[in-house]
Amino acid sequence: MYAEVIIDIAAAEVDRIFDYDCGGFDIKRGMRVSVPFGRMRAEGFVIGIKNSTDVPVEKLKSIASVLDKTPIITEELFDLLDYMRNKMHLLHVDILRLFIPAAMRGGRVKELTRQLAVIADDYRDRDPDEFIRKTAIAQRELYDYLTIDKPDGEYVSELNKIMSASALRNFAERDIVHIVNVEKRRIPYSDMPVSEESEELTLTDEQQSACDAINKTQCRTFLLHGVTGSGKTEVYLRCIREALDKGKTAIMLVPEISLTPQMLNKFRDRFGDEVAVLHSGLGQGEKFDEWRKCLTGEAKVVIGARSAVFAPLKNIGIIIIDEEHDQSYVSERNPRYVTSAVAEWRKNYNNANLILGSATPSIETYYAAKCGKIELLELNGRVNKRPLPEVRIVNMCNEARKGNHSIFSDELISELKNCLNEGNQAMLFLNRRGYASYVMCKVCGYVAKCERCDVSLVYHKEEDRLKCHYCGNLYSPLTECPECGSKFIKEGYIGTEKVANKLDEMFPEAGVLRMDNDSTRTKGAHARILGDFGAKKADILVGTQMIAKGHDFPDVTLVGILDADMSLHMADYRSVERTFQLTTQVAGRAGRASLPGKVILQTHTPNHYVYNYVRSGDYKGFYSKEINLREVTKYPPFAKIVRILVSGTDDGKASNVLKNIYEKVVSIKDKYPDKFIYLAYMRAPLKKIMDEYRMQILTRLTPDTEEIENLIYTAVDECKVSGITAYAETNPIKLS
Ligand code: ADP
Ligand code: ZN
Ligand code: ZN
Repeated sequence: MYAEVIIDIAAAEVDRIFDYDCGGFDIKRGMRVSVPFGRMRAEGFVIGIKNSTDVPVEKLKSIASVLDKTPIITEELFDLLDYMRNKMHLLHVDILRLFIPAAMRGGRVKELTRQLAVIADDYRDRDPDEFIRKTAIAQRELYDYLTIDKPDGEYVSELNKIMSASALRNFAERDIVHIVNVEKRRIPYSDMPVSEESEELTLTDEQQSACDAINKTQCRTFLLHGVTGSGKTEVYLRCIREALDKGKTAIMLVPEISLTPQMLNKFRDRFGDEVAVLHSGLGQGEKFDEWRKCLTGEAKVVIGARSAVFAPLKNIGIIIIDEEHDQSYVSERNPRYVTSAVAEWRKNYNNANLILGSATPSIETYYAAKCGKIELLELNGRVNKRPLPEVRIVNMCNEARKGNHSIFSDELISELKNCLNEGNQAMLFLNRRGYASYVMCKVCGYVAKCERCDVSLVYHKEEDRLKCHYCGNLYSPLTECPECGSKFIKEGYIGTEKVANKLDEMFPEAGVLRMDNDSTRTKGAHARILGDFGAKKADILVGTQMIAKGHDFPDVTLVGILDADMSLHMADYRSVERTFQLTTQVAGRAGRASLPGKVILQTHTPNHYVYNYVRSGDYKGFYSKEINLREVTKYPPFAKIVRILVSGTDDGKASNVLKNIYEKVVSIKDKYPDKFIYLAYMRAPLKKIMDEYRMQILTRLTPDTEEIENLIYTAVDECKVSGITAYAETNPIKLS
């Protein structure tokens, strides 16, 4: 027998199937093997078994060893592999690596096994006098313990603490006790207290009809559009319950950041040990064990971030993508994939349902619902008729005219005082971390930039360093201008670090917490900050978009959005949509329980239409306005943007690759001129990152162009050379 093997080395040259002689091993498709490859040993994935091979005998090598006892890649995932290869133009090995925990490769994690001692069936209901001497007290104790107290067996390590080891040895030798190896699971967050809220709520009418619509069909995709605090999570939980009752399994995806221990608790509460959790905060061993639980069928429900869409569950009944508009669902690094496309594929394969949930759906998803491609379900009211928070728009230009140049408007300060006096909590949102966003010489205009990247540096006060947010390089802070020697150095926009400092000064009695990429670097920091804030150990939480997602703190009555315009002025067709989503999500953190909420939204462009819709919480109004704009200007969903990015340390070599690809794309355009709305090449907005020069080809195609898209992706594949990165992406989430 011969095995078809994909070598676990990520290089385009190696990405083909190699045949090996099975060498007498009992090998199945889906197992990993160790094989001779060139002069070395390599790990590989067996993707097929066959009776004959075209490889001549003298060249054929044999498999050296088998790394798995049973297949670790399911038949469904093999089909998905084909789909992803064809559609997303990814390497075999890059896709296969998505299917298993990273640390399994190279044997860095394995299952923990423990020895379990169990009474043999033949000895269970017998009179012990027949086989235990009257004087063997220890043996009698052990026998009683294992038949009466632990009829299902007990771990040998535990027994040894309380029973005689020689008695156990004696029993094992005489086959009175069987010692078996069992897998032991490492359980994430096992020390978390179980929450009290286990009794089931009565659904609101809107929740009920959403559940009914979903549970009565199969193989459908739904958009669950529910305002913040409308109880979408409860709908998810009920639909998962329904799937389990039908003997099926479920996948629930959430943005990485909102997968808190509280959320997990909710799931463990409802579904107990049948829940597995998969996300990047777990230790390697934990991740491996949770994944094994899915593969063996012990877990029926998986909750996790993006990569959990590949969980090896069988017979899936429902897949849920919560906060479907969230950017974290698009993998920006190789392998690039869009989570919802994978979820849609698995939904079809399993005849399951797919729910996309959001308070602020992406324009494209809502459009699909409006066109009837997917089914729209709406939750228009908050649970218990709690009102949406009042949103007040504050014009920061007026503040400046009044002489207030600080980042806090007078209104925000007075609301903060009220909030704290009443013993409530506040959240302040600023999507800029660090202390000051750039440093500039007031005399000559010099701005400190990273040597490796085409970006300005950010000052971090705690470390007293200038930091590059792209490559992480650190530089000494400026005391004088390196260009003109002037000592007049100006700090740019304020970041979260400085906001927290200022709050400490202004409200010395109040506890201030900060949550951003800097303060959450260590494992568990993220959960700890949210936990402390939830336990009211602090009064104000300052943070970047990390604080916008899904959190449910009942005592938060005030939300401050310090610089709402930040995402508005990005040169990107999605910038207004993003601003709407981000500000609406942050605003939705206020007034979720019995206390009413207030939002202070600070802006320099108070008359921009987006803020009107944010104020009235009018998603549909916003959607109508935005979809019209997209139609007129021919942007998604009325066009498809395909961007090709080329980068490399050798500027000339990268430019050549870009030119070659461009020529190919032009010839595609010559063949199908009416499919192209736009085509051009240029330097990327970020011209250099980590010493790599970046350039791009931008195309806009008519939306019905799978075939053209495929031709462009293929053109890129054909022009790849070593040392240069080149890839295509469709409707990328960032155009920088
Ligand atoms: P969303 O995800 O839509 O923003 P959540 O699912 O977080 O909203 O629900 C908001 C709050 O309402 C939660 O505290 C939840 O426990 C509560 N809740 C949800 N459904 C009900 C219900 N039917 N009755 C009472 N409370 C509910
Ligand atoms: Zn200067
Ligand atoms: Zn840099």
